[in-house]
Amino acid sequence: MRQDPSQSPYGQPRRRGFGFNPRLLIIVAFAAYGLYYYFSNRTVDPYTGEKVLIDKSIDAQQEEALGLQAYQEILQQEQPVDPNSQIAQQIRGIAGRLVDKIDEVEGALAQEHGMQANNFAKDFNWQVTVLNSQQANAFALPGGKMAVYTGLVPVAQNADGMAVVMGHEIAHALMRHGAQRMSRGKLEQMAQMGAAAGGVDVGVQQAIFSAYGVTSQLPYARGHESSADEVGLMLMAAACFNPDEAVPLWERMAAQAGGNSGPEFASTHPSPQSRIEHLRSLLPKAHEYRQRFCTDGSAKQAGGATF
Ligand SMILES: [Zn+2]
Repeated sequence: MRQDPSQSPYGQPRRRGFGFNPRLLIIVAFAAYGLYYYFSNRTVDPYTGEKVLIDKSIDAQQEEALGLQAYQEILQQEQPVDPNSQIAQQIRGIAGRLVDKIDEVEGALAQEHGMQANNFAKDFNWQVTVLNSQQANAFALPGGKMAVYTGLVPVAQNADGMAVVMGHEIAHALMRHGAQRMSRGKLEQMAQMGAAAGGVDVGVQQAIFSAYGVTSQLPYARGHESSADEVGLMLMAAACFNPDEAVPLWERMAAQAGGNSGPEFASTHPSPQSRIEHLRSLLPKAHEYRQRFCTDGSAKQAGGATF
């Protein structure tokens, strides 16, 4: 007897394709939403010319509010030094010089990428507090709140070294690396929810995610680090600091890293050798920026002050 190919030998209609597998539909729906989220929130960073993922629902005010909240929490646990002390005044002075050059440096970098500056940080209220701590660390939060730990002072050695680190931190805030991490976290959550709802085995899930780099923050964080190095270096050079101090500074930081350096510089940072090579390759451009934007004679003189 001839069999109808659409019938199984038992007379039941054969399941055709995957069309009716509800789990697969769920996975496809999550994947489609994930792709939609990804493509509708992609934007080009004027500082690097690279496409980045920043959730459009996170605006400047929201980021500032989050930054301020984090700042207040940190300050409650830390001991600020006397704001009138010499070191606090010196560090405020360095911060002020760097912040003054943000617009010019953003404009110049954007132009190199055929873009216009977006002045995302125009309403940031920049402020720096020096905190008493052994850590060789510093940070800048969205909204412009910064801190320098006193443990960084002997590693920085001079105003140029301090400007390298502070420029790097300011660059993280300018390029919205926090918002980028939040957006990526959202995407990862979607992927995990989709896989769980679709009944994908946890082991398989992890294998797929790591194959696509979804769960590995490391290369991603390293990209942020090297772009913060680049933008920070241009900023410090434009503010009349000496970019040649960047390599020795990171060498001292690397020597310190075996000891008690802070969390910002411990784990996610690139290997000292690759960081130093990258910075060396940027020096000619940094000197160009210094030539072009360091026009204030008194700042030029103040350059290499030691602590
Ligand atoms: Zn960093």
